[in-house]
Amino acid sequence: VRYDSDRQDSVVIDHDRVRPTSKVDFGRGGAWMGRARVCVLGSANMDLVVFADRAPASGETVAGRRFVTIPGGKGANQAIAAARAGGEVSMVGAVGADPYGDEIRAVLAGAGVGVEGVARVEATTGTAHILVEDSGDNSIVVVSGANGTVHDPVAGLDAALEGAEFLLLQLELPMDAVVAGARAAQAHGVKVVLTPAPASPLPPDLLDNVDLLVPNEHEAGILTGKDAPEAAASALLDVVPEVVVTLGARGARWLRRDGGGDHLPAPRVEVRDTTAAGDTFVGALAVALGEGRPMPAALRWAGAAAALSVQREGASTSMPTRDEIDRFDR
Ligand code: ADP
Repeated sequence: VRYDSDRQDSVVIDHDRVRPTSKVDFGRGGAWMGRARVCVLGSANMDLVVFADRAPASGETVAGRRFVTIPGGKGANQAIAAARAGGEVSMVGAVGADPYGDEIRAVLAGAGVGVEGVARVEATTGTAHILVEDSGDNSIVVVSGANGTVHDPVAGLDAALEGAEFLLLQLELPMDAVVAGARAAQAHGVKVVLTPAPASPLPPDLLDNVDLLVPNEHEAGILTGKDAPEAAASALLDVVPEVVVTLGARGARWLRRDGGGDHLPAPRVEVRDTTAAGDTFVGALAVALGEGRPMPAALRWAGAAAALSVQREGASTSMPTRDEIDRFDR
């Protein structure tokens, strides 16, 4: 069931889209709303995490205490966050034809993410080799593997973008793929949300097709050379129409070129692990906006989702469900 915003008097029933799990509800504004449709073009990695007292020096061997493998990558994280928040999500990207790749596809599918667009290619699945020291410091080596083979994603994207409200992009795929994705989304009338991480220079032909940029404070500083988030957000409005700078425990600063903006404080919670807080925030934000909520309400709901995630360990394992977010955001 899809609310046709161009024809306020009509509700269009698209039987192909009605699934047994579809939840139709009334948003805060009282409007008739279906599930938000979100497409993610991005990375999928297996995080290989070792916990040890301290990092070895060059040439040294130290004993580790614990080892875990956790599906990650900013693309997969945002897809899972959006699906758990109640979106109808499809992902486009690549994994290797190996056990890690199979596991990542299974975890995405288990979270309800459509994986038809996640190709299995002749390369190793992307991996992040993470060492966590007792001090809490960590060091990471990323091997992009299959992610690095994604250059021309448009064929896989065309189907995924059909009927979507948002395309979520990050910078862990080759830049030509990210640029092509943004362009394809605009051609489909799909709004583009870019998380500029890891921070790197943004080419004009990407920025031209970005509707909403969501950097964290650190990334906003690198992109603009300005330390103060307010100043960085203003500077970013020269290149994109709308910006949300996430500020960790201080919440988020939203600014729009045509006026409008707000500071949304974060709920006070006890923090256990902030991994993927930003990805949880963006996934939930896209779902809320896709359901037609106004930006301040969407930011508040996304802040509730992220605040829940930082109270739990892990990335995909820490992301809250829609019911949990609603209960927290009362
Ligand atoms: P990233 O995870 O990308 O570095 P941030 O640290 O800015 O991004 O966190 C993203 C969002 O997660 C914040 O805007 C906030 O809503 C939420 N968040 C992060 N840390 C906390 C915290 N300590 N308490 C409550 N919310 C938090």
